[in-house]
Amino acid sequence: MTQQQSLYRPRNAFDVLQTPLIGRLLRWRWGRLVLQAPFFLAALFLLIDGFTGPTNPARNLATVAPWVHYRGLVIIALLLAGNLFCMACPFTLTRTLAKRFSISGRRFPRILRNKWLAIFGLFLMFFLYEWLDLWASPVLTAWVIIAYFVASLLLELIFTESAFCKYVCPLGTFNFVYATAAPTQIAVHDASVCASCVGKECVNGSYAPQTTIRLDEIAVAGGGTIQKEVVHGPQGTLGCGTELFAPQMSSNLDCTLCLDCARACPHQNVGLFVRRPGRELHKAGAWLQRWDVSLLVIALAFMGISNAFGMVGPGYDVLEWLRRDVGIQNEALALLLMFGFINLLLPVLAATGAAFISRMVTQHGRDYSLRQTVAAFAPAFVPLGAGIWFAHYSFHFLIAPLTIIPVIQEFVGLKGDWVHYSAAVPADIISVMQVVALVGGFAWSITIAQQAALRLYKRDGLFGLLPWALLLLLMMLVAIQIFSLPMEMRGTDFMFS
Ligand code: SF4
Ligand code: SF4
Repeated sequence: MTQQQSLYRPRNAFDVLQTPLIGRLLRWRWGRLVLQAPFFLAALFLLIDGFTGPTNPARNLATVAPWVHYRGLVIIALLLAGNLFCMACPFTLTRTLAKRFSISGRRFPRILRNKWLAIFGLFLMFFLYEWLDLWASPVLTAWVIIAYFVASLLLELIFTESAFCKYVCPLGTFNFVYATAAPTQIAVHDASVCASCVGKECVNGSYAPQTTIRLDEIAVAGGGTIQKEVVHGPQGTLGCGTELFAPQMSSNLDCTLCLDCARACPHQNVGLFVRRPGRELHKAGAWLQRWDVSLLVIALAFMGISNAFGMVGPGYDVLEWLRRDVGIQNEALALLLMFGFINLLLPVLAATGAAFISRMVTQHGRDYSLRQTVAAFAPAFVPLGAGIWFAHYSFHFLIAPLTIIPVIQEFVGLKGDWVHYSAAVPADIISVMQVVALVGGFAWSITIAQQAALRLYKRDGLFGLLPWALLLLLMMLVAIQIFSLPMEMRGTDFMFS
């Protein structure tokens, strides 16, 4: 057994796929389609309203649904259940179709098989959101949705793996990172069955243009083998699009929760297991020790701060300072500079700086390279990052949680009942929730960082922890300060005017 196999082998863990109704539905061949179809329909409605509906963004489905409600619900779903929104993602609906008409069957270029493109995609998305005021433009939001569909279909057509999900999609990248804190994970019931499995269908798939039947010798619990008939054919399932191998999975990173692995496995060996929330964040070696993976996670926490910073007074003051005192009249350039500094430069400097100090002040520090040190502490940025995003997105969501109802009423030609559905969750309650999310996220982050420091530096753990704890503390305090300021109520302000 490899080291990775032993990282997550649930013993008596609850398997969601074994539950009578939900489990059966999820394992069913068309199970994902049942979830994707309503989201696909919703995307079509968003396009229709985006191109033909009201220009007021607070009354248009294309702006209210994705920028107010989707974002609020996605972070809650990630933390409570897992990557449900990738599971139901309509952009990948065409995957099976695309694979059958695949043009070249090439792999995604090796140089791009990492998270650098995903970091750039996230940066670009947040930049465009601010620069083009996407939240205020139903038409532009509709074009973004179209761009998603086209990019996903094209990459599925051209490349063998699901390159769009794994290497490009900003939404998926966000979900991958915070699904690492989720209480569920794909794993296998019995690793010895995988060891004797011939076709490794979970990753290779069971789809074939012509039906073929194979007899495999499969290990059984308690020793010995049985013969098992394995059928491949047009009714089969594609293997894991993001090329994860179920028996070796130690993380939710890159898992879209499509469950194709469970459907393709001929031995019903794949499960969706309930685990301790964020279990992988506490485990050494659960993630690859790569710069791109570590910096993605750290940068995304900084992006949470900058995304909120762009909506409060000091954010506008910085842009005004760049315009008036520095002489940068071009708004796009000013935004690029501000976000480039907070989202890219600052995370790199902060992470490498903290790693450099912790290596210097500990006896065993030099046993680990800068890359290994940053990788060891990167998981600690997940809970605080999730807390920052939760504090931000829940604010926009809870300020008008039911306004989607009158928006839908108007979309179908009825009179929108704005009076009835405009109620906001009281501001005090939202503020308390934000502080709880930030302080709770920070406390969780500190426990992860402390475990990493003790693992790396043994008795010097406290010294090694110090720079990381200070960095996390600073980020939390800055976030609390930002959320204590009046924030622009995007997508809902017009309603109250
Ligand atoms: S999960 Fe299923 S298909 Fe994959 S290696 Fe194990 S037994 Fe084979
Ligand atoms: S491991 Fe792969 S096939 Fe299985 S649910 Fe995750 S993304 Fe889908």
